Amino acid sequence: MGNTVWNDKKKFIWALSILLLTAFLITSSISYRVAHESLTEQIELNTLPLTSDNIYSEIQQDLLQPIFISSLMAQDTFVRDWTINDEQDPSKLIRYLREIQNKYDTVTSFFISEKSRNYYHSSGILKTIEDTEPEDAWYFRVRSLPKSENYEINIDLDSANKSRTVVYVNYKVFDFEGNFIGVTGVGLAVEKVKKLIELYQKRYNRHVFFVDREGRVTLNGDKYNGAASLQTSPGLDKFATRILTSPSASLTYLRDGKTVYLNSRLVSEFKWYLMVEQEEVEAEKKLLATFWGNLVLSLLVTLAILFIANMTLGRYQRKIEQMASTDKLTGAANRQVFEEYFYQAIDKAKADQSMVSVILLDIDYFKRVNDCYGHNIGDLVIKTIANILRNQLRDQDIVCRWGGEEFVLLLPEIDLSHAADIAERIRKAIAERKIRVNEHEISVTVSCGVAEYKANEKPTELINRVDVALYQAKDSGRDQVVLSH
Ligand code: GH3
Ligand code: MG
Ligand code: MG
Repeated sequence: MGNTVWNDKKKFIWALSILLLTAFLITSSISYRVAHESLTEQIELNTLPLTSDNIYSEIQQDLLQPIFISSLMAQDTFVRDWTINDEQDPSKLIRYLREIQNKYDTVTSFFISEKSRNYYHSSGILKTIEDTEPEDAWYFRVRSLPKSENYEINIDLDSANKSRTVVYVNYKVFDFEGNFIGVTGVGLAVEKVKKLIELYQKRYNRHVFFVDREGRVTLNGDKYNGAASLQTSPGLDKFATRILTSPSASLTYLRDGKTVYLNSRLVSEFKWYLMVEQEEVEAEKKLLATFWGNLVLSLLVTLAILFIANMTLGRYQRKIEQMASTDKLTGAANRQVFEEYFYQAIDKAKADQSMVSVILLDIDYFKRVNDCYGHNIGDLVIKTIANILRNQLRDQDIVCRWGGEEFVLLLPEIDLSHAADIAERIRKAIAERKIRVNEHEISVTVSCGVAEYKANEKPTELINRVDVALYQAKDSGRDQVVLSH
């Protein structure tokens, strides 16, 4: 019986731990997922686009100025009159270009006349451009721009100083009748633009770079270590078409196992895309740490619950086992438990030819006690008798409540005459005892039958013999001990 209870307990503890851990795992995962999704959404839809907006407007302020200056130069009546009047006295135009360059702090300023093909620069006439010369191809490209487009932005080596790269604004110039008469504009050092990009990167803690409409990376900060174009950028290649066909896009991609958030938008004045990127953020790491922390905590809570459950179950188990094996009123063994002990003792006696004796004991005229004092006081008397029995016996002896006011005593290693002495001692102790209840003093006597186990005897035969002996004790006037030989 004990074993099945133990197995049930083990099963229960297992089921409980699996249940708790699964529940904790599921709730932790769900809360992690939810937090992760809201974080991603927050970055993708909010933080990054806002940053991108800020950078966009800063770039407008910083980079649109050269376009504005170039536009002013293209509209300038002096430049147009001077050109229409056959480019008399080049020093006038050269001085004009120098003024522009100084005033707006650009690295270069220029005018190319369609008629003479002269390249006027703030330092003089640099050269005459040729349609066969590859480095002059830009001029013919600008000239053949569609009517709706007045300028282009182009990154090229400086015509006046080949050691540096310049962001050129090339603006078409028309005479007063709308005929194309040349190209003018200013240039910014690429270095300066890169510094600007780095400034944005630092200020907003994001990666910033530009790509042109074909997806080539045109401008980037010093620390840029991405690919030369969207189409060759791992993870981003899949999105190249999407980015290059919409004025703005927000997306997430994986680079080196890390989530990268990207926001792109077309800066129409440059015809370039401004790209603002953000890598997997600190908050993400914190989420993951929280997730693991939760799991560890869950594990500890599970262990604590299991520990408490185990203790409580153990206590109840012991209580139940005790309740199942003992009589509630007297605390003596019940009949089932007695039988277990009884068969065990007989087996042992058989095996090593030892002795075992049994005493059957019944209170005399107990009905009268009940009749006189009531059932409750009768119970108390039975309880007192049980206590006397226990006091008179050894630890290895078993006291069992056999019936209402009958007890059977199992005495291992005790022979008949010894058992008779014990029975007599008990009889005397009970007879002499005055049981005080309230104002009453109750005395009872008991009758005992005694028998010793005989080899090859069946257990029931032994019980029968001791029963007969008790009957004889009753029959012979009670308050006495009768032996069964
Ligand atoms: P005898 O000397 O022949 O044993 O007479 P007796 O009155 O004791 O008769 P018997 O043993 O046949 O009856 C026992 C009585 O004990 C019957 C019942 O009313 C009473 N009794 C049995 N169990 C309990 C109990 O748990 N509590 C109380 N108060 N009385 C009980
Ligand atoms: Mg009786
Ligand atoms: Mg009886």
